[in-house]
Amino acid sequence: MTDILELRRVAETLKEGPFPPQVIVETVSRCNLDCAMCPQSALSRPRGVMSLELVRKIVDEVADYAPPSTKVWPAVMGEPLMARERLWDMLSYAQERGVAIHMNSNANLLDAEAIERILAYGVREFIVGMDADSAETYVKVRRKGDFEKTVANVEALLAACDKGGPKVVMQFIDVGINAHELEPFKNRWLSKGAIVKTRVAQGWGHWDHLLAAEHLDIPLAERFMPCPWLFRNLVVLWDGRVTQCDGDMDCKYPAGDINRQTLREVWLGELKRRRDRQKMLNFTDGPCHDCRDWQVGLSKFWYPDDPDRFYAVDERKV
Ligand code: SF4
Repeated sequence: MTDILELRRVAETLKEGPFPPQVIVETVSRCNLDCAMCPQSALSRPRGVMSLELVRKIVDEVADYAPPSTKVWPAVMGEPLMARERLWDMLSYAQERGVAIHMNSNANLLDAEAIERILAYGVREFIVGMDADSAETYVKVRRKGDFEKTVANVEALLAACDKGGPKVVMQFIDVGINAHELEPFKNRWLSKGAIVKTRVAQGWGHWDHLLAAEHLDIPLAERFMPCPWLFRNLVVLWDGRVTQCDGDMDCKYPAGDINRQTLREVWLGELKRRRDRQKMLNFTDGPCHDCRDWQVGLSKFWYPDDPDRFYAVDERKV
């Protein structure tokens, strides 16, 4: 269940700067899996791959105006390795412009070429969504995925990173049916030198989400803090529209369009107006009125050199 003390600590970290701490970029809105906790297959907006022009515009603005701590993160509603040529375009251009790339992947498509490119382009962090420690549970959570192949792919990545490469983070999202495998999952990956990250499932904007509901326990009327997603991320969809968070996965309430605006214009314009309303504890807007995902900004990290305790988000930076 959500720990209110931990949430209050998250609230204290919500500072506003002139640039978003993380720019989340939907290079592609397609996926090779059909995960139990992900609404990707139910997207109602058109699917596609981000244009090279847009990728370069985003990377250029981060290179020219963002603080060095800014993370660019190819993610949102798609598996980045599904559009690998565009991903390589992004990684190579980001490297050329000195922009840090952090990645999420289900690692089913993490073959030798992908590993070579990820190392060559200097990706800083590679987070693998796995959520299980047995093939039996894996196919219930990461439907259409291949457990053994994914384990082998990640082991190959870890071996390749032996002499330098991204931090490899193995992520376990607790969706109930997999909770009994957290301990063996942690033991497996910590012993192989990976960092382990755990968090509860998001509700994707809907408080009655089948998997999230059992974790989210603070009534809507008792919200006491603004939503961390609004303060941490600027999310650009593959077509250039900006959505305020994953809770608005179909972009019913767009906050801007990077085809005709800059990231800073959106961050300091419409997104700032939305943050300001939440600072006044006004949650009546758009997708927020019945969303409980503001409680899901909690992650715990375990490190191979200190496996017996966890660190909360931001305590020990990756
Ligand atoms: S409360 Fe929900 S819809 Fe609103 S910003 Fe947070 S995650 Fe998005």
